[in-house]
Amino acid sequence: MTNWDSRALAVVQQLRRSGHQAVLVGGCVRDSLLSIPPHDYDVTTSALPWEILSCCAGFPCLNTGLKHGTVTVLSGGLSVEVTTFRREGSYSDHRHPDQVEFTSDLTDDLARRDFTINAMAWGPEGLIDRFGGQEDLNARLIRCVGDPDRRMEEDALRLLRGLRLAGQLRFTIHPDTADAIHGHASQLSMVAWERISAEFLRLLCSPGAEQVLLDFPDVVTQILPELGPAVGFDQRNPHHRWDVYTHSVKTAALVPPSPALRLAALLHDVGKPASFFLDERGIGHFYGHDRLGVPLAERAMARLRLDNATRERAAILISRHHLPVEPTRRWAGRWLSRLGEECFFQLLALKGADASACAPPLKAEESAPLERAEALGRQLLEENACLSLRTLAVNGHDALKVGLAGPQIGQALHELLDHVAQGELPNERSALLSALERYLSP
Ligand code: ATP
Ligand code: MG
Repeated sequence: MTNWDSRALAVVQQLRRSGHQAVLVGGCVRDSLLSIPPHDYDVTTSALPWEILSCCAGFPCLNTGLKHGTVTVLSGGLSVEVTTFRREGSYSDHRHPDQVEFTSDLTDDLARRDFTINAMAWGPEGLIDRFGGQEDLNARLIRCVGDPDRRMEEDALRLLRGLRLAGQLRFTIHPDTADAIHGHASQLSMVAWERISAEFLRLLCSPGAEQVLLDFPDVVTQILPELGPAVGFDQRNPHHRWDVYTHSVKTAALVPPSPALRLAALLHDVGKPASFFLDERGIGHFYGHDRLGVPLAERAMARLRLDNATRERAAILISRHHLPVEPTRRWAGRWLSRLGEECFFQLLALKGADASACAPPLKAEESAPLERAEALGRQLLEENACLSLRTLAVNGHDALKVGLAGPQIGQALHELLDHVAQGELPNERSALLSALERYLSP
């Protein structure tokens, strides 16, 4: 069927040569059947952990997960997670099994896995599919192994894994599994924020994110309660076809899939419900929602344990998403140098998506200035225009020599950079030195 990575197969063969059962299992089988290159390999085996270590003695092994029955075997640079067949007991904390029991029966091990498409195994004799995984793969369905209600009740992370897989593969969630996800959404509170955050960002950046986020606002608002008031919030405005939540999800789905940009898009109107007012004609408006929204978004991102760079970038994009765009070199130069290259293009993408997700299709008179500003930005970069202090023809030493001191130096250099980036001053040393002198107090 597929081209298995020979390094992963070498581990399976090694265990089998020692008389154990061993198969590839889970995501690597699912992805291979879909012709997607697997990004990690799991092997499940009847060998007990100490037996795995002794059989695989020829490979470097990391036994960090040994007490849970997992050994990481490094085969030709590929890390392969090898786990003993297991059956899991009850789950009283909605996340971890109370006890794990090793078994010699592969079917038990497959039965504890979350979804049918993740419960297939592959060995040299072919595909082992005890729960209809291949059929669901062909039907593009995410379906729990066994009773969905019980499986979600056991481990609430599964509900988010299900949504993430549906988004990544653009699969549909089987109605019974979807019901169980809705029914157990509140149990996400039992899952560590780091795990929630990792799965949620993968979902948000997935190709099928729009449908999943629209179908499961109850799960999304468990993770981002700040979006709760946006769900169903009618903007009472002819430019807005959708409620605030739907508009935000559609905006997020239209921007390129980077975490900071997609989060900014999802949260860009989070301040709207609190800043809403109706005019005398009964049309809805918002006052200062960007200002209200930034602290709400920051709170949400801190809860998701995001790194500072992602948080800062998303906050800048949200706070600037109403920046008026002028299709001029002057405007492009100013904002390229103030925001930096990546943030500049992300802001234009966010503004374009925001406009498209209001009252599609985006009218030419709305999209033309954005496209022009983007083209001008690219042109300035191609011309190697001076857009940062690094390439400015004068620096701090020059400012000191001229007689400037302390905070005056940074301020003067930033102002000169603004003039140069906007094309109002040439990036030439002599012109900039005289400009620096003008900062000296008379
Ligand atoms: P990917 O590697 O693309 O993130 P995956 O399905 O391979 O997706 P892993 O975290 O690598 O995810 O898990 C490997 C396998 O372990 C899964 O395919 C599934 O069979 C099983 N598994 C992982 N997490 C759970 C869980 N919470 N409940 C039940 N089975 C799980
Ligand atoms: Mg995997």
